[in-house]
Amino acid sequence: MSMNVHVKWAGKEYEITDVDPSQDVLALKVKIMNKTGVRPERQKLLNLKIKGKAASDDALISSLGLKPNFKIMMMGSLEESIVESQTTPTDLPEVLNDFDIEEEEVTIEQNENNLVKIEKRVREYEVKVLNPSRENKKLLVLDIDYTLFDHRSVAETGWELMRPFLHEFLETAYEYYDICIWSATNMVWIEEKMKLLGCTTNPNYKLAFYLDSRAMISISTPKYGIVDVKPLGVIWGKYPQYSPKNTIMFDDLRRNFLMNPQNGLKIRPFREAHSNRDKDKELVGLSKYLTIIAKHEDLSTLRHSRWERYIEK
Ligand code: MG
Repeated sequence: MSMNVHVKWAGKEYEITDVDPSQDVLALKVKIMNKTGVRPERQKLLNLKIKGKAASDDALISSLGLKPNFKIMMMGSLEESIVESQTTPTDLPEVLNDFDIEEEEVTIEQNENNLVKIEKRVREYEVKVLNPSRENKKLLVLDIDYTLFDHRSVAETGWELMRPFLHEFLETAYEYYDICIWSATNMVWIEEKMKLLGCTTNPNYKLAFYLDSRAMISISTPKYGIVDVKPLGVIWGKYPQYSPKNTIMFDDLRRNFLMNPQNGLKIRPFREAHSNRDKDKELVGLSKYLTIIAKHEDLSTLRHSRWERYIEK
């Protein structure tokens, strides 16, 4: 009996229909090529595994234990010629609106429903711990997509899409801050991305822990409807040593820190990795900023939106 699966690639999702489980992975890759234009030998199917190892092309699809509508995460690049001949699909904006912080947030932060949701996450959500937290360190919470990594451009390897100076930035930050990664994707994807970027093996810093989309909450805002956000209260509830006083979060979407506007810094999104690789210096400036503010008692009293003015002085 055939089934459908989905492929997530370069920020878009493709449906692959009529996948026959009695065929092999190569046959599946051919089907994926027909949809995406990426040749089988250039496809890296990140979460297609058998007993923890990447499935080989001759493995039978039935041996993968895929559920219908399984989401396959792919990295891979198009042949130049295919890129040129393909018409670009209309690129819908990823977020319909990102917005400025307003008074209404005060009520959002204290809204009983939202606090109940956070408590539930504190009780039930399991943070993925990589390294122990250290004493007397502040906490830096980082988004991945468009913050550390351009997830929509296409490349052979992850590091081509890495924001310039990422490792230098993390090394500097590590001196004063424990580092947490919080991305609105799933844990497998986060682990793969951080591995691809070389952030888990760099000898000069260690990442403390990861949170994924399941730690987020949906909140209702009078003006913008229902949005998913990353409430720092989940981390503060789990780790008493971190608080609004010693936490700062970087995200390219301001709405992600709607629950904690005083602890969020909106970073410029890193897009078009190939043409911006030599221009983007955001992380150099932010390294300086983190170093300067590391001696502050209470980070929530600073106006992070003015970070560039702080480092000019
Ligand atoms: Mg992002």
